[in-house]
Formats: sequence, structure tokens, C-alpha cells
Amino acid sequence: MTAREAGHVVDLAIIGSGSGNSIPDDRFDNLSIAIFEEGVYGGTCLNVGCIPTKMFVYAADVADTIRDAARYGMTASFDGADWPSIVERVFGRIDPISAGGKEYRVERCPNVTVYPSHVVFDGRDPDGLYRLVTDGVTVLARQVVIAAGARPVIPPVIADSDVRHYTNNDIMRLPALPERLIIVGSGYIAAEFAHVFGSLGSRVSIIARSGRLLRSQDEDISERFTEVARQQWDVRLNSDITGVAETTDGIRVSFADGGHCDGDVLLVAVGRQPNGDRLGLASIGVGLHDDGRVVCDDAGRTTAPGVWALGDVSSPYQLKHVANHEQRVVQSNLLKGWDATDLDSFDHRYVPGAVFTHPQVASVGLSEKQARDAGHDITVKVQNYGDVAYGWAMEDTTGLCKVIAERGTGRILGCHILGPQASTVIQPVIQAMSFGLDAQAMARGQYWIHPAMPEVLENALLGLDL
Ligand SMILES: Cc1cc2nc3c(=O)[nH]c(=O)nc-3n(C[C@H](O)[C@H](O)[C@H](O)COP(=O)(O)OP(=O)(O)OC[C@H]3O[C@@H](n4cnc5c(N)ncnc54)[C@H](O)[C@@H]3O)c2cc1C
Repeated sequence: MTAREAGHVVDLAIIGSGSGNSIPDDRFDNLSIAIFEEGVYGGTCLNVGCIPTKMFVYAADVADTIRDAARYGMTASFDGADWPSIVERVFGRIDPISAGGKEYRVERCPNVTVYPSHVVFDGRDPDGLYRLVTDGVTVLARQVVIAAGARPVIPPVIADSDVRHYTNNDIMRLPALPERLIIVGSGYIAAEFAHVFGSLGSRVSIIARSGRLLRSQDEDISERFTEVARQQWDVRLNSDITGVAETTDGIRVSFADGGHCDGDVLLVAVGRQPNGDRLGLASIGVGLHDDGRVVCDDAGRTTAPGVWALGDVSSPYQLKHVANHEQRVVQSNLLKGWDATDLDSFDHRYVPGAVFTHPQVASVGLSEKQARDAGHDITVKVQNYGDVAYGWAMEDTTGLCKVIAERGTGRILGCHILGPQASTVIQPVIQAMSFGLDAQAMARGQYWIHPAMPEVLENALLGLDL
């Protein structure tokens, strides 16, 4: 039987059940829909990304609070973490949500068919429908949304070795807390796991190829973070890995300079590669950028008519709030139609991000270097957490809030924060930038609750030499 005879013809196919799963709502009830998911239902954020990591991070923050109790005049001691019960707390909540999401689509959405396997494009049929092949079945689709996400990059020196390595996909389900954890990578995922495992009791070694951790952040933040990280973990900078081997004592990672690092468990967190290279896209004439992202315009349209893309597979920002936003844009555009003249556009003007490590880091807009390189006439103010009352209450000695604005107009160009609750303290700046509020209006056009932590931001704004 052909696919058409077998009835596998759908109005809309969605590849990936992360952000893609949010597309079909009741406005799509009149369409037949196929959702393809080769992994765990619900995608990265829910199962192996943002949500479980932050649930572990919270536990790690509590451990640190207990450890620091003496600083505030309390007697308390951190006697260790019950790792299996932490794992159970996290996945006991998440796994049923994932299963429930799938069950909802399978049992309660008669217009939706879920295909639990890898899918690839295989060109178009004579009527122009897209041929999608999965597990021996061909589905023909009038339109397709590619929401296939990204996967961890594994450097060949590790991939080609026999040494067991972990990624974010499995490290959170370890049966026991490792005594010594080696983390390869220096970006936000590496920094978050270093905090989780370090604070819960592992001895963490973090291996960076460059001279700083979090090097995509503003230089002041990255430098301060690297300093603080060195006080918490065994930080190896400028380290080129030349080999990985099992030893009688565990795992040894060797470096080009002759040095090495030993541990019990190896975690790889060096970046994420978009999954567009595993979709047979050449068969429908859709290309990839040099960095592997699926090419699409700011309405989410790829170069194949009726094929859309969103989220980590195509976006320059591998962040869930961006994937969610792009999903809403593509969802709206699907309803308007491919050729509509009023299609919605992705808004990538002020994309914020946070690193839930210790201390937290958050940023929005340009770094100081980016602002200078772009030719802006800028004024910069760095305010320490320790300068404001809540910082005193916390005895904070490392936190900072840096604001970059355009001299003369007061337009806020960027903000970078390192310190407790940075991801929350930064939110008013995101709002101000998004709605065009300048630094002066933002600082003096509203009350700032005294003596709350955002006073550090207020003072930074007031300190700008406009
Ligand atoms: C450890 C970690 C922590 C993170 N923390 C944060 C955070 O704190 N804040 C934040 O904003 N972002 C965070 N992120 C990033 C965030 O998780 C992603 O940006 C987001 O989940 C991307 O959503 P998506 O819908 O594009 O892709 P995904 O959610 O990855 O969904 C894609 C789905 O497609 C499936 N798939 C791929 N190819 C195929 C195929 N050919 N056939 C069938 N199925 C396929 C995959 O199995 C996957 O389930 C984190 C990521 C990681 C890894």
C-alpha cells in the first residue's frame, strides 16, 4: 500500500515534542496532525534540561546555605546529601509529567497521531506533499514544523575512547553521587553541573580549553566568575585534552602540556549541536548554516514551502524562553498561512539568559566589548552587591551588577549581573529595554523597594555618567 492508501496523510507534521508539542491547541482541531518524537516525550527542557537541572540546583543552593550558616551566627553543619532521594524528588515529579503529556496526545487528541521514532524527510511526492519516513512507515504531510532541538557535542578524543562518559541526558540519574567528577566544558551547562555536584559533596574538576569560564559573558563577569570558581572547584584553564583512559583508580584525562586530571565520573558539556543534520533536509532543498542550524527567515519559514523551523534546531539562541517565543510565532503563522502578508516575526532584540550556578549569572543585551565594537558612545557602571543593604545582610563579597548605556540618550544597551538571584534581579532591565525605557526614567520613574536586592541595579543606573 502507498502511504496515501494507508491513510498516513496529514495536514501538519511536527518533528519534536519539546516546544513543537505546544503548537496543536483547539484552533488546530480541524487538522490531522502527526508528532514525531524519537526520545522522551516533552523534549530537552522538561526531561534533561532547564527543569531538572534547576531542581538539582535548588538542592545545591540549600546545601550551600547550610554550609554558610556560621557566617550569620548560626550553628549548623552540612553532613551530606541523600543523592537517591534528590533524584527521586526531581524525576518523581518530571517523569509523570512527560508520560502524561504523551498520554494526553495519544488518548485525548483524536486528530493527533504520535510516532515514537526517528523521522527523516524523503523528498516530496508528485502532489508536492512532504514524505516523512519513520520506522518503516511513510507519512505524507502538507506542512511540517521542524522543532527537532539539539544534542550534546562529544569531542572525538572522548567519543573515540572506550571510557564511559555522561552528558546532561544521563548524569542526573547516576545511582550515587560521585566522589570525584571531571567536567569537560566551560559554558553554562558545565558551570551549573559543577555547582550541583560540588555543593552536594563531589570534588569537581572543570576543564576549559580557553583561559576563562563562561567566556561568552561580558569580560568582567567571566573574569569574576572564574576567580570565584577557582575557590570552589579544581579549575583547569587552557587545557587541551589529548587522551582519556581508564586507570586502576578511575578515569584519567591527559592534557597537551603533559598534565592530567583524575576522577571517577566524566561529564561532557562542551556545547550542543542542532539536530538538522539528521533530518534528510537535502531531499527537500533546505540548507544548514555553518554552525548546523536550519536556515529559516524571521517568520520561521525554511526555503521549502510549507516547512517551518523553530527552537534549538534553527535559532541562534539555545534557550527555552526563545524556543517558546518562536513556537508562538510559528503557531500564529501556521494559522495565518504561508503566504500571508501579515506574518508574525521572531523578536530577538533583547534575549536574556541566566546561568544557575554559584554565584548566579544573568545578562541581557550587549557586553561592554560588543557595545564598543559596535561604535556606541557608552557609559558603564559597575555596582557591587556589597554596596547595598541587602548585600550587607547576605555578607556578599563577590556579586556585581554592570549596566552599559548610551551616553546622552541613556538608552540601556546591556546589563550583566553576577550574584544571588541574578536571574530575578535582572528582569526589570529586560522590561526597560523591551519597552524603550531609558536609564534615568527607569531609575527615578518608579519606587525601588528598600532594602531589597534590586537596589544594586537602581544604584548602578544612578551611577551612570550620562
Ligand atoms: C542541561 C541543560 C540545561 C538547560 N537549562 C536552560 C535554562 O535554564 N534556561 C533556558 O532557557 N534554557 C535551558 N536549556 C536549553 C533548553 O532546554 C532548550 O533551549 C529547549 O529545550 C529547546 O527546545 P526545542 O523545542 O527547540 O527542542 P527540544 O526540547 O530539544 O525538542 C526536540 C525534540 O525533537 C526530538 N527529535 C530530534 N530529532 C528528531 C527526529 N529526527 N525524529 C524524531 N524526533 C526527533 C528530540 O528527541 C527532542 O525531544 C538547557 C539545556 C540543557 C541541555
